[in-house]
Amino acid sequence: MVRALDPSSRLLFPDAGTTGRLVGVALDVPVDTLFTYRVPPSMEERARPGHRVIVPFRRRRRTGIIVEIQETPAVARVLDVHDVPDAEPVLGADLLELGRFVGRYYGASLGEALAAMVPRGIRKRGAGRLRLRVRLAPGVEVPESDVPSTPPTAPQARVLRVLAEHQERGLLLADLCRMASVSTSPVRTLARHGRLTLEREREDALAAAAAEPAERQAPHDLAPEQAVAVRRLTEAVEGGTFSPFLLLGVTGSGKTEVYLQAIRTCVEGGRQAIVLVPEIALTPQTVRRFRARFDRVAVLHSGMTEAARARAWQSIRDAKMDVVIGPRSAVFAPVPRLGLLVVDEEHEGTFKQQSVPRYHARDVGMVRAQAAGATVVLGTATPALETWRHASEGRYGLLRLPERVGGRPMPTVQVVDMRRGEERVGRGRHIARTLSVRIREALRDGGQVILLQNRRGFATSVACPRCGWILECPDCDLSLTYHRSHTIALCHLCGHETTCPPVCPDCALPALKMRGVGTQTVEGELAETFPEARVARMDSDTMATREAYEEVLGRFGRHEIDILVGTQMIAKGLHFPRVTLVGIVSADTALVLPDFRSAERTFSLVAQVAGRAGRGDAPGRVVVQTTLPDHPAIRWAAEHDYESFANAETLDRKTHGYPPWRRLLRVVVRGKDERAVEARIDETARRLKDAAVSGVALLGPAVPTVARIQGRFRRHLLAKCPTSREVSALLHVLRTARRPARDVEEIWDVDPYQVL
Ligand code: ADP
Ligand code: ZN
Ligand code: ZN
Repeated sequence: MVRALDPSSRLLFPDAGTTGRLVGVALDVPVDTLFTYRVPPSMEERARPGHRVIVPFRRRRRTGIIVEIQETPAVARVLDVHDVPDAEPVLGADLLELGRFVGRYYGASLGEALAAMVPRGIRKRGAGRLRLRVRLAPGVEVPESDVPSTPPTAPQARVLRVLAEHQERGLLLADLCRMASVSTSPVRTLARHGRLTLEREREDALAAAAAEPAERQAPHDLAPEQAVAVRRLTEAVEGGTFSPFLLLGVTGSGKTEVYLQAIRTCVEGGRQAIVLVPEIALTPQTVRRFRARFDRVAVLHSGMTEAARARAWQSIRDAKMDVVIGPRSAVFAPVPRLGLLVVDEEHEGTFKQQSVPRYHARDVGMVRAQAAGATVVLGTATPALETWRHASEGRYGLLRLPERVGGRPMPTVQVVDMRRGEERVGRGRHIARTLSVRIREALRDGGQVILLQNRRGFATSVACPRCGWILECPDCDLSLTYHRSHTIALCHLCGHETTCPPVCPDCALPALKMRGVGTQTVEGELAETFPEARVARMDSDTMATREAYEEVLGRFGRHEIDILVGTQMIAKGLHFPRVTLVGIVSADTALVLPDFRSAERTFSLVAQVAGRAGRGDAPGRVVVQTTLPDHPAIRWAAEHDYESFANAETLDRKTHGYPPWRRLLRVVVRGKDERAVEARIDETARRLKDAAVSGVALLGPAVPTVARIQGRFRRHLLAKCPTSREVSALLHVLRTARRPARDVEEIWDVDPYQVL
């Protein structure tokens, strides 16, 4: 019930004013209502929708966003806002509306949605994140091995040894911790004892690349298919109405050149362009390609300090930037007049946020572009099947670039059946005969090699061959991965680390076996088989920051490395003309996961990594090792035939009722008390079932593949819905239900990217 405020309530609430405008404020809390505050007359001028306000909330100061001016308060007790800090609103009407969509569609509160849109440096005041560079202090003795005498302790010794290998530039704190497998505490202890130095750093390679004057690059003369694509996009941008396109171009077909020329039209027409790229593809090289054509380029990325982000945000809002490049959150960049949205590698999972609000930047981008009358280009060699369906049914314009630039051939792909006798490898070997012959040839001819093994570490499990004991994480239901470089076993979910026991703790057998293959195994095997080759490994163990990643890529580009071994990190977007061979050590890893997208992901991974071969003058070769050579994902990837794969896989999804034919809503419940978790998921399932929304099929509740993470038990269920209307009806049921018990968490994921 709405009740006008009785002036006498001032006696009850002395901190509440009686004059001044009432505003509805969205706060970053999981509550669906707006909160009413009163703006004192002195600040009234600035209290408009889209403005930030500092308000008292549960005895604390919180930052919120004004979303409406209210006539009468919905509640009796109205508190005053403390402050309206900015002269300008942080969100315009268009972004407020987009926030409403995000909240509604993904089941978040409006406050949670808006909080994801506004950079924290703007939301909160205070210092930004600083980068710390660590160096060995002069004259410090570096211990030979991990001697656990004090000091230094074993972790400290590891820190010193890793640093000793990077004397010249030192390492960023995050890289150092990752490479030495330590927390920051041994580093800080060593710094206190004067054995190393910590230095604050503000320089940011990406921001520098965006700011530094770039050498002008004239547009390329377009290949015929590129010209067609550019012409259709140009017409759409000039038309100024919402027009979505899929740019289906094989790797190396010159998609970026198409983006650049379409952006030119957009900028010349006085509108702005946003370019979304997967986080990993956001490199200074990428930024420089845009800077070589446009002066006013802004970069938004996760490594930025909050202050830098706030500055960039402001210059974008003030129309001082023509092009904004960034990962998923850049879809909210406050450009005043969006003309073109580019989503590069639109199939990438990193466009889906894995925390509230669990939005997909491509899909949110579509909604924003629709409201803005903008053109959208989704560019990729391997579209998500959702996108493919839109394009093949004519809702998106389809632009094809079937050939590589300059008439370069696609690499030849050889699928090697690892079950065949002549490929059989010895114990502990993973690079079979064919691949090893090809590596030898490539090295002999002066080429470079990229090897993909989509799992980091050394052995994927440590087990007892006699009694079956397996070294598991005490907090997660997952076997630990052995990392040889530091002789530790690590949990890939929670980071728990332990030393490997010398004997089986159950039956005392002194011969535990390592099973499975990770990047470190492959690296070790290469060192034995090709002792003369220079090998580097690239995975999240070695690459904690962008800087470490770029350092290795720089060395690879200068041919100081012959073979680069890595996880999917090396599959994406790299352009190294001297790479003549790409090997996939095992294409099976992703295929066998019980997830409806595993075939799609495998196809994409094989196609993307294969796309790294033969980008220069020498033709490329790809060797794919697998025990499932007839799987459609592998067969069609070897033929570079996305469309045949997509059509076959789309049919399969139809049979099983998955996207792009159904919309999914996933509910995950997690908590430390297994019975409470079970009770909650059962209750939620019952509630969804009782709602009897027509056409909805409920799967579960079930125990997910990983039943426990970081000591929290998990249960999940999946609702397959005919359209997003039913998803929204189910969300409504979830949102109006009573909240879970304390220590039990319930997650709603609309259009989940993965369901493991
Ligand atoms: P994709 O993004 O499709 O993998 P890129 O846009 O990275 O491909 O293009 C690959 C290379 O070809 C780049 O070095 C680019 O500068 C170059 N390139 C693109 N279009 C042309 C063209 N029309 N003529 C000559 N070179 C081109
Ligand atoms: Zn045993
Ligand atoms: Zn764990």
